[in-house]
Amino acid sequence: MKLAIIGYGRMGHMIEEIAKQRGHKIVCIIDVDNPDAFDTSDYRSADVAIEFTTPGTAVENILKSFVSKVPVVCGTTGWLDALPDLKDMCDKGQGTLLYASNFSIGVNIFMAVNRYLAQIMNDFPEYTPSMTEIHHIHKLDHPSGTAITLAEDMVSRVTRLDCWKEPEEGKPVGENTLPINHERRGEVPGTHIITWDSSVDKITISHEAKSREGFALGAVKAAEWLKGKKGYYTISDMLSDVTHTQGIF
Ligand code: NAD
Repeated sequence: MKLAIIGYGRMGHMIEEIAKQRGHKIVCIIDVDNPDAFDTSDYRSADVAIEFTTPGTAVENILKSFVSKVPVVCGTTGWLDALPDLKDMCDKGQGTLLYASNFSIGVNIFMAVNRYLAQIMNDFPEYTPSMTEIHHIHKLDHPSGTAITLAEDMVSRVTRLDCWKEPEEGKPVGENTLPINHERRGEVPGTHIITWDSSVDKITISHEAKSREGFALGAVKAAEWLKGKKGYYTISDMLSDVTHTQGIF
């Protein structure tokens, strides 16, 4: 298929490489030096565009793509206030968008397992949950967005959990609270570990990214899936469809 890339940074480069490996043609690459390229026949010839830029530029890029009638897969994070308006436009037939805060297929499978385990654990109060996320030293924010999603999925399924919290040094988090610990180490791409501990045993599930490649591969697979569709979608819609499952993702 024909792909356009919006944002030629770390993700844009990796998406280009993976898309070519999967036999796709890159018909247009847009970055800060050619913002008018949305209005070209090359851009308009794309079956799907993949957008990984910055929180301040993603919405404008999506809107420009809607005008050029090219469906967009967007992985840029940090602009979610605008999502309801964009969804609304897609519902009215004014554009096509697939958004995911995490395109790693493995992370999305891990999230499904986490939700299932949390549902089971709601009936076993002898198990106490905790989470640890580990990332490279360049990551400034904590906990990670993925850890927050995992934690919110647990809090909404386990009645003895009211909220999540990052422990202050040496202090317990308190009753009915899921602790999220973070570690910053070397170049670790992203590890999330969830533990359910009892006096007699311990259940641990974890996801360990080996590189950023998983995000790029997920975004290219999402673009392949989005081709020819109209409307607003998430990665859950894609995974439910390709796995022929309902209610898991
Ligand atoms: P990066 O800084 O390496 O690249 C961003 C690129 O966007 C740069 O080349 C920059 O010049 C370009 N850019 C800025 N403004 C632009 C504009 N108006 N039009 C076109 N291009 C523009 O960042 P990155 O590591 O590639 O990450 C990009 C975004 O993707 C971030 O928001 C990051 O959090 C997010 N991300 C999401 C996932 C996911 O799975 N959803 C995974 C990794 C990163």
